[in-house]
Amino acid sequence: IKQQVGVIGLAVMGKNLALNIADHGYSVSVYNRSAQKTDELLKEAQGKNLIGTYSLEEFVESLETPRKIIMMVKAGDAVDATIKNLLPLISKGDILMDGGNSYYKDTIRRSRELEEKGYHFLGTGISGGEEGARRGPAIMPGGEEEAYRMLEPVLTDISAKVDNEPCCTYIGKNGAGHFVKMVHNGIEYADMQLICEAYLIMKKVIGLTPPEFHEVFKEWNKGELNSYLIDITADIFTKQDPNTGQYLVDLILDVAGQKGTGKWTGQISLDLGVPTPTITTAVYERYLSSMKEERVNASKVLKGPENLDKKSKDFTEAVRRALYASKICSYAQGFGLMREASEQFGWDLKLGDIAKIFRGGCIIRAQFLNHIMSAYDKNHKLVNLLLEDYFKDIVGQYQMEWREVVKQAISAGIPTPAFSSALAYYDSYRSKELPMNLLQAQRDYFGAHTYQRIDMDGIYHTKW
Ligand code: NDP
Repeated sequence: IKQQVGVIGLAVMGKNLALNIADHGYSVSVYNRSAQKTDELLKEAQGKNLIGTYSLEEFVESLETPRKIIMMVKAGDAVDATIKNLLPLISKGDILMDGGNSYYKDTIRRSRELEEKGYHFLGTGISGGEEGARRGPAIMPGGEEEAYRMLEPVLTDISAKVDNEPCCTYIGKNGAGHFVKMVHNGIEYADMQLICEAYLIMKKVIGLTPPEFHEVFKEWNKGELNSYLIDITADIFTKQDPNTGQYLVDLILDVAGQKGTGKWTGQISLDLGVPTPTITTAVYERYLSSMKEERVNASKVLKGPENLDKKSKDFTEAVRRALYASKICSYAQGFGLMREASEQFGWDLKLGDIAKIFRGGCIIRAQFLNHIMSAYDKNHKLVNLLLEDYFKDIVGQYQMEWREVVKQAISAGIPTPAFSSALAYYDSYRSKELPMNLLQAQRDYFGAHTYQRIDMDGIYHTKW
């Protein structure tokens, strides 16, 4: 008797997904390039219907057909190498799912190559990190719908649930699942950057201490900002270093790491011509953070404002409002990017369903996604989230405090590029008039690029 599901790649994600699948009553075979990880998992999986295999031949042989194989190997060449090694062993009609953070263009290529040969390929985004993989992640499957339907019971069973509904839904053809996962990560970058800017403002302007930050974020988590990231942020401020007794957050080097999905989101938004300034700025700020030595040197020579205008604790409410308004703009950008990609790649993305599955399991899970879900439920053609009543009203209500917070940060010399870029996005988007009349004149002046007029039809060029 053969196993129902196979998992290849047993690092953090693959190992925990395999355990999760087994816990839901499926029989599982696992394989990892190096045997040690397989051995470790088998020790942990005692008593579960999970068997280890030590060659791809043995792995493929152990699975019932059509085979359902989930790859959780490192994104990039490892996926191609694994597919190449599997191809001589598997049969037409088998389903290969890549559950890693693959680049969506690679997924489009792999789908085409595998589907031409008669195999099914699902490029699937999975979010939730280690804990999500083990207890229930958000799952974004892309590929042929028919192939998804065959794996659907497994994926919906292992996914997170919100209101008893799985955080897993068919996203669209070929690269759609990985594209949506990438945008999820881009939004995650912006969410994190915005929270960090709120922290910096409150640290510098109010002078909050870690225990006070814990209280503030705990309070925020009870309201509109209720989300996983705010929750863990509150928690972070409680951790003390056992050796020094200091708060751990104050001992961590301010240099941010990254694995590339935020960068891709920025690159693609440029390719597709969709403004995502808040998301992209969050990526830039990680780059800037990594220039630590340069920053330390510059801090000695470049001048900032002399006096800091201190604020009382009441100012935290203005910061909270600025954070929420900025967050709305960042999601408007991310969903705008998905909307355009859907058009250009013919994916027919259901943005309301995407907001719905983001509500559980993944890193950006938040109460606030309910509003995005209902915005698209009401009007699936909504061109920008900012135009929907709930968002329009709340941003309108909070905008003066938002401006006040950005003003405070600017006059104190505190870098808050995500807050500022979100506000600039809001102000540009709501501007009937932008200064591009002058820009068009400049283009026509030096390059004869022509311009249109507001008072007459036609294309014009002037000898300036
Ligand atoms: P890693 O990305 O660190 O990848 C390690 C795994 O890939 C190991 O099993 C390794 O095998 C295997 N591998 C690497 N190169 C090859 C190769 N050439 N051929 C065969 N196997 C290879 O593991 P993670 O579990 O962190 O992530 C898996 C995927 O999920 C990645 O795409 C990642 O981006 C994505 N992801 C990760 C999240 C996380 O929180 N970690 C969250 C969401 C998605 P070996 O043991 O032999 O080296």
